[in-house]
Amino acid sequence: MEETITIRRPDDFHVHFREGGILSAVAPLTADHFNRALAMPNTTDPIRTGEDAVQYRDQIRKAARNELFEPLMTIKITDGTTPAVIVKAKECGVIAGKAYPVGVTTNAQEGVSDFKKLAPIFSMMQDVGMVLSLHGEISNRFVSVFKKEVKFLPTLKWLVDTFPTLKIVFEHVSTKEAVYEVSMMPDTVAATVTVHHLFLTTDDVLGSYILPHNFCKPIPKTAEDREVIRDAVIQGSGKFFFGSDSAPHVKMRKECGSGAAGIFSAPVVLASLAQFFDEHNHMERFEDFVSRFGAEFYGLPLNTETVALSKSKWVIPEEYDSIVPFMANEKLLWKVVKQ
Ligand SMILES: [Zn+2]
Repeated sequence: MEETITIRRPDDFHVHFREGGILSAVAPLTADHFNRALAMPNTTDPIRTGEDAVQYRDQIRKAARNELFEPLMTIKITDGTTPAVIVKAKECGVIAGKAYPVGVTTNAQEGVSDFKKLAPIFSMMQDVGMVLSLHGEISNRFVSVFKKEVKFLPTLKWLVDTFPTLKIVFEHVSTKEAVYEVSMMPDTVAATVTVHHLFLTTDDVLGSYILPHNFCKPIPKTAEDREVIRDAVIQGSGKFFFGSDSAPHVKMRKECGSGAAGIFSAPVVLASLAQFFDEHNHMERFEDFVSRFGAEFYGLPLNTETVALSKSKWVIPEEYDSIVPFMANEKLLWKVVKQ
């Protein structure tokens, strides 16, 4: 008999859906496996206001072609955000504001130059109950990519101390220092974990070859960092939940002289997580990580539908509409069988 597992339908708390043709290609792949996904606001023309978010939500819904699927919306916090924008966005159903330090990743040219100057914004987010989602890397170009996350931790501490009831998500945690810091902070602070940071180290990006499809921000770190991230997930504290950071770019933009950062993982994340928990003999932690902790942190009801996976090998396709997925051409031991 084939081994199967049925879990509550999961949520993905960090997805880049992009726009236009890419949106149409990738949205159904997330909607196939997930009931809800938090849509990141760093589109070419960013999602800055509640009105932008409502419009973008409609575009994602249409592209997803799946009635079960519900996009969860964010706005981008920039130097130009005002408290009134926060109030209006909350009324429009936006659940999080995403802050990128200027220039740290794709489409982050317009971002936050000084977190302290935005105190009135964070204060308003705290008042209206909007989550602050952080790309936790500093933008100082004299600090190496390997140190940018650790150097951001004082800013995180300042935010936690200054806004004690503001909910904060430290996105795509990639270092042991950040895992320790988040673990010790109050329950208002959590972190998302991606599949690629559970699987990769720096050597999988630039070891024997440069592997552009594994290139992302924050860059995967050492085996030791990866071990600490894995332990945090396996221990199941509730402070670490799933956000894929699935970030598609067409093949041409990855395989070129200045390749873009971002790993497109949407079609493989659920199966690869099943494999991860199975290999670590903690299948019982799988459902909480993908279907419960994130929803609880955001104060959302748990999904009632289910999804089934079976232990059967499949080979990940080489491309989805000119976008190369994470682990392309590799074998996975688990497969989503009933969506
Ligand atoms: Zn992201």
